[in-house]
Amino acid sequence: MMNLATVQQAPAVNRKRYGDTLVTMLSDGFLDVSFELLDGIKANEAESLLSQKGIAPLPRININVFVIQTAGRTILVDSGAGGVNGWGGRLPQALFAAGIDPLSIDTVLVTHAHPDHIGGLAGPLASPVFRNVQALYVQERELAFWRDEGVYAQAPKDFKPFIDLARNAFNAYDEKIVTFNNEDVLPGIQAVPLFGHTPGHTGYLIGDQKESLLIWGDIVHFPHLQIAKPDVTIAFDSDPQQAAAVRSKLLDRVATDQLSISGMHFNLPASGKVSRQAGEYVLQYDTWSPVI
Ligand SMILES: [Zn+2]
Repeated sequence: MMNLATVQQAPAVNRKRYGDTLVTMLSDGFLDVSFELLDGIKANEAESLLSQKGIAPLPRININVFVIQTAGRTILVDSGAGGVNGWGGRLPQALFAAGIDPLSIDTVLVTHAHPDHIGGLAGPLASPVFRNVQALYVQERELAFWRDEGVYAQAPKDFKPFIDLARNAFNAYDEKIVTFNNEDVLPGIQAVPLFGHTPGHTGYLIGDQKESLLIWGDIVHFPHLQIAKPDVTIAFDSDPQQAAAVRSKLLDRVATDQLSISGMHFNLPASGKVSRQAGEYVLQYDTWSPVI
């Protein structure tokens, strides 16, 4: 009989189709932080807000990863944390459960280079985990920030390992890196500049005129909380004011257009929509469907 004390959650996989594009949403696991990292809300207020919304009042950030299959390409969007500091690290099992061979991934899109987004891309000494990648796309400013020697020199001591990790991931794909500073990235995929959380933080809009999905990266870390209170920022924001302003503007756009959205820190690998209810934005996840 299995040891029930050590059993883990089964890999979470959720698929949806947007036009000709298949999106597989996967869970890499989670990382535990503290509500003290939030600015603009007290820890006890954060707990009661989440409880009211039916969400466990834990300072637990889920980590999601996306695989996009379109126009003959298999594209990984971020990579989870890769188990760094005990964070996430379940992407390989989730890919296996989804029937996606890591060697079939030919393209990587990076939203930004925080450890919970690039930690799964490379092993020690810049060895690539996804060995058949032909192109890794990253916003020009984002790459420049992590490779900037001045940034490194001035970084606090406990931030330097994160810069090292980002550099290691980029170096693993060095010859395959494609930087961009406009919106057209690949056929059927547009970059959406959402700077503020990091200097080049970028979302990706997938699909066609009729059906589309915006993978908005780290617009929220605690989805129900920061959608209800867009002014609440987190210590990881490189420019909190800009991050909050970008969040407010984007929430207005996705609520008005009823655009499907997903994010790396949604409570489960799912898409959803934002609506306005009683003067507040509300997130509603799409239900899982056995048919895609
Ligand atoms: Zn993140």
